[in-house]
Amino acid sequence: MADLPLILILSDDNAQVGLLTRVVSRQYQVKQIATPETLNQWLEKADSVEELTNVHPEMLVADTELLAVSVHNLCQQLRCHPNTSETDLVVIGDDAGELESDALNSGAIAYLPKPLDERLVHARLMVVRNFRDRLAILNSMSHTDSLTMVGNRRRFDESFDAEWKWASRHNLWLGVLLIDADYFKRFNDEYGHLEGDRCLVTIAKALKSSTKRAHDLLARYGGEEFVAIVPAANPDGIKVVAERMRKVVCDLAIPHRRSDIADVVTVSIGGACCRPRKDQNRRDLLLAADEALYDVKHGGRNNSSIRSVGEE
Ligand code: GH3
Ligand code: MG
Ligand code: MG
Repeated sequence: MADLPLILILSDDNAQVGLLTRVVSRQYQVKQIATPETLNQWLEKADSVEELTNVHPEMLVADTELLAVSVHNLCQQLRCHPNTSETDLVVIGDDAGELESDALNSGAIAYLPKPLDERLVHARLMVVRNFRDRLAILNSMSHTDSLTMVGNRRRFDESFDAEWKWASRHNLWLGVLLIDADYFKRFNDEYGHLEGDRCLVTIAKALKSSTKRAHDLLARYGGEEFVAIVPAANPDGIKVVAERMRKVVCDLAIPHRRSDIADVVTVSIGGACCRPRKDQNRRDLLLAADEALYDVKHGGRNNSSIRSVGEE
């Protein structure tokens, strides 16, 4: 039950809430919100109260009679809040053609005319559900690297932006690691491109398995290079993660006859971390990680180096 997505219902009509709950109870958890003030409080608290931070309602079904703001403004409010930016708004209102078209033109995804008809409610909410499911598949495909199945560059860019803002707002450390396979051109030359591909898939799996926290992200940065975002990690913490990643790749023991540093496939890791300040740009962090990677490559490879940016 706890894993079912959440629907919020803004309505003070218990019969209406009962009907909606009956229709969706197999697919959703339902939470009734009886007043617009409660909805506002809920939205305000959602990113500051521990138990609400991971609550992302899939749908808000709102009776227009209880709305303190226009449908358009409510949509804006939902888009601006991190917990509800992906929440679909479904509106319950009187059975009049122009009310429905107004609501849909203002950003609602579906309209449920009063009095509610169980079969129509079911049909319309299932259309919304199917639409969401298809969008989720497209979204996942467009953020996944098709060879290694870890996040792609787009996924990294979006997560890095979000984590940078979060760390900056809460004065937290943020770390980034660039992980580059050593002598990989020679690996391809020696074993063939297909074997190279297989090797990248294995490396990606191993690197991903060594990210431990829910907000850690591993993505393919391009070619034989991966990137990891490690939130809430100071220089010591990020060094530990980097070394764990370096070691996990060594331990795969994939033979590499033409490497100058080992007889197995290895990676070099450059990392950087900071507590983002207003005058800093997240590119500075990546740049510092890139410089650290350069140092490791020039120091012989199969090693890691971490820079701390902007701390006195
Ligand atoms: P270094 O230790 O300095 O990083 O040397 P390197 O050979 O790994 O680096 P270089 O940038 O010279 O070459 C990267 C190689 O990675 C060349 C390219 O063929 C290979 N590569 C990049 N993407 C892929 C891929 O998707 N599949 C395979 N098989 N190889 C790839
Ligand atoms: Mg390389
Ligand atoms: Mg490279």
